[in-house]
Amino acid sequence: MIDINSNILLIYTGGTIGMVENKKTGALEPFNFDHLYSNFPEIKRLNFNIESYLFDPPIDSSDMTLDTWRQIVEVIEINYYKYDGFVILHGTDTMAYTASALSFMLENLTKPVILTGSQLPIGKLRTDGKENLITALEIAADKDQNNNPKVPEVAVYMQNLLMRGNRTTKLNADNFSAFRSPNCPYLAETGIEFRYDSHIIIKPDYSKETVFNYYLDANVVILKLFPGISFEAVKAHLNIPGLKGVVLETFGSGNSPLFPWLTSLLQDAISRGIVIVNVSQCLFGSVEMHRYQNGQKLEKLGVISGHDLTTEAALAKMMYLFDRKSDTAEVIRIMQLPLCGEVSI
Ligand code: ASP
Repeated sequence: MIDINSNILLIYTGGTIGMVENKKTGALEPFNFDHLYSNFPEIKRLNFNIESYLFDPPIDSSDMTLDTWRQIVEVIEINYYKYDGFVILHGTDTMAYTASALSFMLENLTKPVILTGSQLPIGKLRTDGKENLITALEIAADKDQNNNPKVPEVAVYMQNLLMRGNRTTKLNADNFSAFRSPNCPYLAETGIEFRYDSHIIIKPDYSKETVFNYYLDANVVILKLFPGISFEAVKAHLNIPGLKGVVLETFGSGNSPLFPWLTSLLQDAISRGIVIVNVSQCLFGSVEMHRYQNGQKLEKLGVISGHDLTTEAALAKMMYLFDRKSDTAEVIRIMQLPLCGEVSI
């Protein structure tokens, strides 16, 4: 039930939802929050308390950085006990990365952190932003019979679907329904009613303290394989100074070419202590390196399985682990354990 005593903090980072068209160039540019409110007076009709925090200046989410993630965590930590839930307005372009990062940065989360945005600005007649924002706010204010939040996790809400944040990926640059969580059932689907899947939603331990992690290690890279990839391209990636981890996007169930030069570059990187995690370029399904000779080869080299991690979540998890663990064996071990529902093992 939506709790009329709920206090929700709306954090506006930017994104299309609040953008306006530059009359000269025709491009959409971030605009201030008053614009969002003045185009959406209906928001005041919600019967619970909403306060807002504005990033100044608001950004296109393509400009997202580790520093901005740190700022989001800081806003949530400072306000954690004052509010029942948080809604983050965010551009859709990097929303899956931010949602993944926040799921690791906000450890033992006990309150909803719902990210939403829109494909059309809120000032446009056909905007998808109004429904997304109203529903995200209502989900953040929704409580169960014990007065606990219905969704105490980092989630993404877009177009009738509530998804675990670290399972999402942006699939569509055009449709309103831009996100999916291919390997995780939806946390809720909204129509006339909100239909939560309570078996899927994480049940936090309310006796544990929430931990706010501010730092991530940026010494990681994504390497996507493709037919024709050159020795120089792989070598350049694996020899980035200070590199600690690689998200290797492989084919199908975790296969790579058997070329000797590739094997020896990967072997060399692993022998230098670089952690290589295998994620599939396929959206659905999981890495199963034992299935083919080409996958088995990677496994023998010491490439670790990312199972059904998204690229976004694999990257964020590595950034999070490398900041905390100096022992590579520990990073390898924890990479293969679920921490906050990011992987199906
Ligand atoms: N470029 C925009 C952004 O990510 C797109 C959007 O908001 O959907 O900020």
